[in-house]
Amino acid sequence: EAKRRRGGRPVAFGAMIEAADRDARAIEKALRAALRRPGQLSLLYQPISAAGARRLERAEALARWTSPELGPIPPDRFIAVAERSGLVVELGQALLGQLCDDLEERPELAVSFNVSPLQLLAPSFASDLIAELRRRRISPARIELELTERLLVDDPRLAAERMGELRAAGFRLALDDFGTGYSSIGYLREMSFDTLKIDRSFVTGLERCPERRALVKAMLDLAHALELQVVCEGIETDEELALVRDLGCDLVQGYHIDRPMNLGRLAERWLDQRHEAEPA
Ligand code: C2E
Ligand code: MG
Ligand code: MG
Ligand code: MG
Repeated sequence: EAKRRRGGRPVAFGAMIEAADRDARAIEKALRAALRRPGQLSLLYQPISAAGARRLERAEALARWTSPELGPIPPDRFIAVAERSGLVVELGQALLGQLCDDLEERPELAVSFNVSPLQLLAPSFASDLIAELRRRRISPARIELELTERLLVDDPRLAAERMGELRAAGFRLALDDFGTGYSSIGYLREMSFDTLKIDRSFVTGLERCPERRALVKAMLDLAHALELQVVCEGIETDEELALVRDLGCDLVQGYHIDRPMNLGRLAERWLDQRHEAEPA
């Protein structure tokens, strides 16, 4: 009995790894196909609002993919696969093409765009992007690039060089998911970000947890001392919104503000609204 149980575990575990592996290979294959024909990949936009009023500051572009064979696949999953297979550079190019189309269509729109470490470190990333924007006459000031702490760990010197190049070209830079990674506070000063995004895990249940509140307050004070703008992610309730606003948070993002949506809907709900809000 005991012997069988002992023997059973590694087999089950091994089978699990095998399934995950097969899964990753299926995703990679389907993603390769998706990159060859357009139409499967798209971008949704989630509003980032001023904390004190319902006013769009910019919208975060979030990738979506529905594979004809595999169905909808969450971005965390396919971006991880794309990172490991190197496809993320090509994927990022495709998404940036879409982003530029949308920026052309909506001249009043400002966005933030997630860039994975491998993509940022690719030799031609910055120069290609800058050239494409120039060709289309889109100002880099309309784009904030969201980077993660992981980037700073692998090769901080190369990362700093790339970031300097992008900043000189006029892009804004944000540190995404702050608090979840491994980077030291020292990087925050050296790396010259414009924006710090406090991760959802610090915001959830803020009203029930004084320690978490103290932590968010400390992050806000630190960021403001370094003259960074702060976005609190994952605002799901009115209580959370009121609390981060009272703690001095500049910008907010989360389901309570609005969900990710397509460009048409974003325009209806957040861009075209502006005129209607004016008094008659
Ligand atoms: P992220 O950059 O931190 O994006 C925020 C994620 O939180 C999004 O998930 C968004 O839908 C979700 N979210 C926003 N508000 C709330 C809320 O109030 N509650 C909860 N529970 N979730 C909320 P999504 O779209 O599934 O994306 C997941 C991650 O995938 C992103 O995290 C980002 O790291 C990555 N990702 C998405 N699009 C891209 C892309 O185009 N390029 C790259 N490199 N990564 C991307
Ligand atoms: Mg992000
Ligand atoms: Mg984030
Ligand atoms: Mg996140």
